[in-house]
Amino acid sequence: LMQLFRPLDMLGWVYRTIRQGLIDMAQMFRLIDTPVEVRDAPGAPALLVRRPSIVFDNVVFGYDRDREILHGLSFEVPPGGNVAIVGPSGAGKSTIARLLFRFYDPWDGQILIEGQDIRTVSQNSLRRQIGIVPQDSVLFNDTIGYNIAYGREGATQDDVIAAARDAAILPFIERLPQGLDTEVGERGLKLSGGEKQRVAIARTLLKNPPILLLDEATSALDTRTEQDIIGTLRRMAQHRTTIAVAHRLSTIADSDMILVLEEGRLIEQGSHPDLLRRDGLYADMWNRQLAEREHALEEPPVELEA
Ligand code: ATP
Repeated sequence: LMQLFRPLDMLGWVYRTIRQGLIDMAQMFRLIDTPVEVRDAPGAPALLVRRPSIVFDNVVFGYDRDREILHGLSFEVPPGGNVAIVGPSGAGKSTIARLLFRFYDPWDGQILIEGQDIRTVSQNSLRRQIGIVPQDSVLFNDTIGYNIAYGREGATQDDVIAAARDAAILPFIERLPQGLDTEVGERGLKLSGGEKQRVAIARTLLKNPPILLLDEATSALDTRTEQDIIGTLRRMAQHRTTIAVAHRLSTIADSDMILVLEEGRLIEQGSHPDLLRRDGLYADMWNRQLAEREHALEEPPVELEA
């Protein structure tokens, strides 16, 4: 693992040095007036989590000083609750995920996990409590077993096998001649989008975080694989506090609460039936996606090369 981190450390250092140079210059010319890097407060304690709730309290944020993206956003995810965020492209959905992970700090307002402002706790402890299944799961050029075990330091072979089973990728692994020792990634076996996603899910299951961030977890998959993976994700989200950022509404229709975001503002919120009754933006998006789906079903199937 150290072999992996050393070059990354070095890169990080070069990046910080260059960026610091730019920041110093910018400060000299008074172009920016806030520090860009997110740092731990001195002696920041660890985030303490038993049954985490997540609160966005009047959060104002933008990437550049002259362009505000989130304009005073407030919402709450109760402990164990499943909340989905939907809305048009550029509405700020992924920005919410980045703020929760504390890649940036809000300009105003606060983000609380189980009552603790995430700016006051160590970033390490914060990120340990949050599992992410991203849009495009990246695998290391290493074995499939390593890629899963990476989820938790000190994981045993049995832990890895159990996680692979829960992520429904164990049968696939068992069919490989070298099983968990099969090399994957650029230099090894190429996995399909769905298989990669399942490896990422297994890794997250092994990490066993109380908070889950699903970022459009099923975008690159065909409908059948998508349905299978949604089932797996649902099981994973049960009993965990979950925020799902979604484009395809069919994947989140049974969330406890759906937040509809437009241009950095919450314009509707409620359950799927609530929002359909409301006949606003969500209902529009839903009807449009239904029509697209029906249209796609009418298309003749694509011929696959033998
Ligand atoms: P999509 O559905 O297309 O993924 P989104 O709702 O997730 O969109 P965000 O990625 O949160 O939208 O972006 C919100 C706004 O912030 C966009 O206008 C985008 O251009 C801007 N933005 C995103 N990332 C950055 C960045 N690193 N620097 C500057 N602006 C950014």
